[in-house]
Amino acid sequence: MDITQAIRAAAEAARPAATGGKVADYIPQLRELDPHRFGLAVVELDGTEHVEGDVDIPFAIQSMSKVFALTLAMQQCGGERAVRREIWERVGREPSGDPFNSLVQLEHECGIPRNPMINAGALVIADLLIENCDEPVAEILNLVAELTGETISLDPATAAAEEQFSDRNRAMGSLMAAFDNLVNPLDQVLDVYNKQCSLMMSARQLARSVRFLANDGIDPASGRQVLSSSLAKRVMAVMLTCGTYDAAGEFAFSVGLPCKSGVAGGIMAVAPDHSGICVWSPPLDAAGNSLAGRVALHDLTDRLDLSIF
Ligand code: GLN
Repeated sequence: MDITQAIRAAAEAARPAATGGKVADYIPQLRELDPHRFGLAVVELDGTEHVEGDVDIPFAIQSMSKVFALTLAMQQCGGERAVRREIWERVGREPSGDPFNSLVQLEHECGIPRNPMINAGALVIADLLIENCDEPVAEILNLVAELTGETISLDPATAAAEEQFSDRNRAMGSLMAAFDNLVNPLDQVLDVYNKQCSLMMSARQLARSVRFLANDGIDPASGRQVLSSSLAKRVMAVMLTCGTYDAAGEFAFSVGLPCKSGVAGGIMAVAPDHSGICVWSPPLDAAGNSLAGRVALHDLTDRLDLSIF
């Protein structure tokens, strides 16, 4: 089936599902999102863009930033052995089966977060970035600017609100510091994390920006090796098993692609050797993933036979 036709059909099938979800309400910037917004973008490796709906409206990327932060941390480590030592000694790669901001597992597992796609894991990655980058947030912004071919900025009001409502993340950070798994001052780590969550990107830009994963680590626009193909594979594996929290099994079952969601209703997906995909619909399911977004990806991957399985 033609991709343009498929995304139109998937959007039509998915839009009504949004009414069953709930827009995140812990900060005003998310609470005020229009629940009727819906965008779906598929960007092929050759640069062809297929889009439907609100694909050019920037929204806070929230937890989708965890993929870019992990990518940057891997780049900074500069090789697989260093990645093993510096990243995988401090953060695991098992699905958590718990909400993205859960504290319980951290205590049992001595301050080693289950994976880099949940908040605790992302705080460890932010800590690593502070150690390795002069300006971690600027470098994340540079990375996404390079991958999208456009200037990306962050929303200071969202970052400030995230900071104001960061009690749970602060608790996780303190617990990890008590287990010696945070090196830098917690305020500094939270600042990087809150700012990376506040990057404003559109569905079209997000679809472009994950194409390097679909292309063995090489950004198809510039030809630059962003990550080695081996590390790109690892990032996708973590997205598949952990990127949608305790719904990762359901996503593997119904969508069959490495995905990463954010609490503003975006979900990006990687179709290896094919495309980068992003869907945006703010109402969330109980696990914190866009409800209509999942329906759209399920429908789309069935129509285009994109599941990796
Ligand atoms: N800013 C959110 C938080 O830290 C991000 C979570 C998400 O997008 N799932 O709770």
